Amino acid sequence: MKSLVCALFTFSLLMTGCSQYEHRISKKSSSNEFTGNYVGSVPLKLYTFNCGNIEVSNFDAFSSSGDYAGQGGKLVNTCYLIRHPEGDLIWDLGLPHSLVGSEPQVDGIFTVSLKSPLTDLLEEIDLKVADIEFMSISHSHFDHTGQASLFSDVEWLVHEDELEHMFSTDESKAQNIAFVGLNKTIFSENYDVFGDGSVVILEMPGHTPGHTVLQVNLFESGPVLLTGDLYHRAESRKLQRVPRFNTNESQTRGSMIAFERLATELGARVVIQHEAIDVSRLPKPPGFLK
Ligand SMILES: [Zn+2]
Repeated sequence: MKSLVCALFTFSLLMTGCSQYEHRISKKSSSNEFTGNYVGSVPLKLYTFNCGNIEVSNFDAFSSSGDYAGQGGKLVNTCYLIRHPEGDLIWDLGLPHSLVGSEPQVDGIFTVSLKSPLTDLLEEIDLKVADIEFMSISHSHFDHTGQASLFSDVEWLVHEDELEHMFSTDESKAQNIAFVGLNKTIFSENYDVFGDGSVVILEMPGHTPGHTVLQVNLFESGPVLLTGDLYHRAESRKLQRVPRFNTNESQTRGSMIAFERLATELGARVVIQHEAIDVSRLPKPPGFLK
């Protein structure tokens, strides 16, 4: 499939070969188009990987209301693989793989550690990084982009506002250098990854300008919503808390309202990607949700 895509774009790019292309989706799609009464009919598999652990010495930064001041605690950090008959999608890229084999690193309020890189985790289910066709991140914070350099031959599905944000300053350009050479599909609003409504990236901006969540319509388990960092903990969902490190609080609150409406409509299982309780209820590889 990859070679076919490459061939098509090589044709259109003529002399530039297939080293890099951009595919811009101009069609605007409402979320209802994808999420109405869709019942999963594609035999998808959803794998959950441990992409690091984060200890937080003070959760004050996680609530603009000021009610988390002085609280410490832990966050899990997760990446996901969705296997579809037409291809594989990696969702979020975890903490930097350079952390593997080193002592936990302290950076401000965060102490971060990583046991295994995605290459090893994929190998456990007999996959190589080179087998993965598509990659997308919920947003561009360091704990979701850390292993981008492992995916040099993947098509990056990116919301146009996040793309702009990631390359808006010299500092952010340097941070995101691993994304520079990737083939890209750039979309606005929502993006139906395989064109059949089974896996849909939904814009839920505010935490960052192009923050997204992922809807996966599983055949047996039903619809699953992966939150990105719309919420960091079960408590922040329950209390509707917005972090201080957030691009636009009113936009985030709007996304929370849209998300909750959708979750209710779908009767979806919500997975808060940093919440240990949610993650502990998911199968560990080689197990998967189907
Ligand atoms: Zn995060």
